[in-house]
Amino acid sequence: MKYPQANKDLGQHFLKDQNVINKITELPDEDVDVILEIGPGPGVLSENLTKLNRPYKVIEADRRFHEYLISHLPEENIIFADALEFDLEEAFKIWGWEDKKIWLVSNLPYNISAPLTIKFLQQREISYMSLMYQREVASKILGDGKKNEQGSLLVLCQNFFDVESLCKVAKGAFNPPPKVESQVLSYYRKNEVEVALEEFSEFESFLRKLFSFKRKQLGTVLKNYFPKDKIDNVLNLTAIDVKIRAEALSLEQVYRLYRNFK
Ligand code: SAH
Repeated sequence: MKYPQANKDLGQHFLKDQNVINKITELPDEDVDVILEIGPGPGVLSENLTKLNRPYKVIEADRRFHEYLISHLPEENIIFADALEFDLEEAFKIWGWEDKKIWLVSNLPYNISAPLTIKFLQQREISYMSLMYQREVASKILGDGKKNEQGSLLVLCQNFFDVESLCKVAKGAFNPPPKVESQVLSYYRKNEVEVALEEFSEFESFLRKLFSFKRKQLGTVLKNYFPKDKIDNVLNLTAIDVKIRAEALSLEQVYRLYRNFK
C-alpha cells in the first residue's frame, strides 16, 4: 500500500517486516483486557491487533493517517493527539479502562521514547507493554548484564516492571529505514515493587540527582545535594563505598540510598 511521505520530525519509520510485525503483536498474556497503541502511523500493526478481539484504541499525532486507520478501527477508537500531552488518566476514566489490564503497544517515536516510557510507567492500569527502542536505549533499560550501565531509566523501568528483550530489529525492517538498529522490549508490571507508584516523583527526582554525574565518585556527586554529615552517615549505614561511581551501583544499593536520603 502507498503511504504518505514520511514526516521526519515525527520519527516516521514504519515496519514492513512481517516477522517483526507478528512478533510484536503476539498477545503477552491472556489476561490482557484492552489494547492501546501509540503512534500507529497508517496501521501496520492494526490488522494483527484487531484480530485479538479486544477493545483496541490508537493515539496518533499525524492526521494524514486517518484514511488508513479508518479501514482498521471505528472512528471512536482513533484519537489524534500528541501522546506526550495526552491525559491518559482522564481518558482511561472516560473509556471505562480504570480497572482493565491494558496492553500498550508502540513502535515509539525515538526522539520521545524516554519521556513516553516514564509517562506509561506511572499509569497503573498499563499492565503490559511492547515497546520499540533504538538499540542503545534498549540496552540502557535492560542493563544487559553489563556493569556500569545504571541510570534513572533502568531503575524506574525495572522497579515497576519485569523487562525483557522480545527481539532485535534491523534497519531494513522499516520503511524508510532509520539510521540506527532497534530492539523491542516486553514489560510485565510487577505486583510487588520496591518503591511504590505514589512515590514516583520523589523517587525520580532522587535518581536524577544520583545519576547527574554518573562517572564521578558517589561521595562527590552527593555533596552537590546533601550535607556532608548526612552523606557520611548514610554511606556508613548502608555500607556503600564513597568512591563507587553512581553508574556502578547495584539496584539494591540504589534503593537503599533512596530510602536513607528521602
Ligand atoms: N521507531 C520509529 C518510529 C516509527 S513511527 C522511529 O522513531 O524511528 C512513529 C509513529 O508515531 C508515527 O506514526 C508518528 O506520526 C507517530 N508520532 C510521533 N510523535 C508522536 C506523538 N507525540 N504522539 C503520538 N504519535 C506520534
